[in-house]
Amino acid sequence: MKFRFAPSPTGYLHIGNIRTALVNWLYARQMGGQFLLRMDDTDDERSEEKYVDAIKEDMRWLGLVWDSFSRQSDRLSAYEEARQKLIAMGRLYPCYESKEELDIKRKMQLSRGAPPIYDRAALTLPDAEKKKYEAEGRQPHWRYLLQDRIVSWDDEIRGKVTFAGNSMSDPVLFRSDLRPTYILASVVDDAELNITHVVRGEDHVSNTAIQIQMLEDLYGEKSIPTFAHLALLKTKDGEISKRVGGHDVQGLREDGIEPMALCSMLSKIGTSDAIEAWTDMHDLVQSFDIRKFGRAPAHYDAEELTALNHKVLAQLSFEQVRARLEALGLAGVDAPFWWSVRSNITQLRDAAEWWEICKRPLSPVITDAGFAAEAASLLPGGEWDERTWDAWIDALKQKTGKKGKDLFMPIRRALTARDSGPELKMMLPLIGREKAEKRLRGEAA
Ligand code: GLU
Repeated sequence: MKFRFAPSPTGYLHIGNIRTALVNWLYARQMGGQFLLRMDDTDDERSEEKYVDAIKEDMRWLGLVWDSFSRQSDRLSAYEEARQKLIAMGRLYPCYESKEELDIKRKMQLSRGAPPIYDRAALTLPDAEKKKYEAEGRQPHWRYLLQDRIVSWDDEIRGKVTFAGNSMSDPVLFRSDLRPTYILASVVDDAELNITHVVRGEDHVSNTAIQIQMLEDLYGEKSIPTFAHLALLKTKDGEISKRVGGHDVQGLREDGIEPMALCSMLSKIGTSDAIEAWTDMHDLVQSFDIRKFGRAPAHYDAEELTALNHKVLAQLSFEQVRARLEALGLAGVDAPFWWSVRSNITQLRDAAEWWEICKRPLSPVITDAGFAAEAASLLPGGEWDERTWDAWIDALKQKTGKKGKDLFMPIRRALTARDSGPELKMMLPLIGREKAEKRLRGEAA
């Protein structure tokens, strides 16, 4: 089995695209299939190399490793072959209308209340007219002659889908400079690169009806892959698209969103499963089932993602984050430090602040100098570990009669100069005896 994710490198990936990528990747891994990353870059005016690089970077960051890579601009000769074949079959015809002429036709149809379907005027254009146009320097674009018949397929998400051939315009497959359009290039690639499953957004449903006819013409019925069309992802403000902007993966990464938070959310949104924090892609693969995806639009909520990020961080093991903590400058960071802070941060880089508090000098906040001095004098000796705290606090309670907030808040402020944070029990051994004592005595340490 072979799956593919086929972005057009005309912009950065947003959460809608990455959801399609992730679902394909999970599906491929679950089936033990292959996953192809394909750049749909036949539109050379809008495609840019910087987007190709950014797409790869985003995919790597998310852990969506591809087994093979291809780009449509490398396969132009295959598309030209398909063009010749379609012409020979009588299924591709030249059209000379300019964009403005087509716009006028469309407007007139709409004003009559008719669907804006191309009227196939080019099919009856006399040869003399064609010659005249060409003499004027007008090059034709090429349209596919759709058959007037019903196309249907069993969609893995939408169930049986049916389209009448005469309800759609004959699509343009080649522009006047003979560059292929996406709709042709995708058919040629899907068939020639042996794609067995096409999973994409429901905005492609009508393309599928067209592409099935083209696949049959060019490669025979056996070449038709299994299709699944994902319901669109929406936010409170509407649809997510390159045009609208925002929600791009790079931005989320910069905001400190964990790849697993994004994968947890996007693999389950719009399915019958609850959205939970997952920390391992293998588990997501195990729990994946394309039949769990529903037809209703999926609602994406940025606040839910932030909450999920917090939950993911709280579950990550030290080994999963060690290299990243070191890259943040936390030299010598260890597992006990991570365990103490991981449920108190909303982004990984917040850990650096707690590292500073444990390891670098700080000016303590002393609200009751007498009590703090008492606490300092009761600090236990010997090796410190998580049990040190209990022994110390018990002694302090007995000595001062304080409890609850009155007991803990002055200590927290003295030791960390903050009103809240990770459990002091865990922080105390990380701060160490020398610093703890000085801070309790009101000295910067
Ligand atoms: N390049 C197309 C897009 O980004 C791919 C659609 C498809 O998966 O066939 O919408």
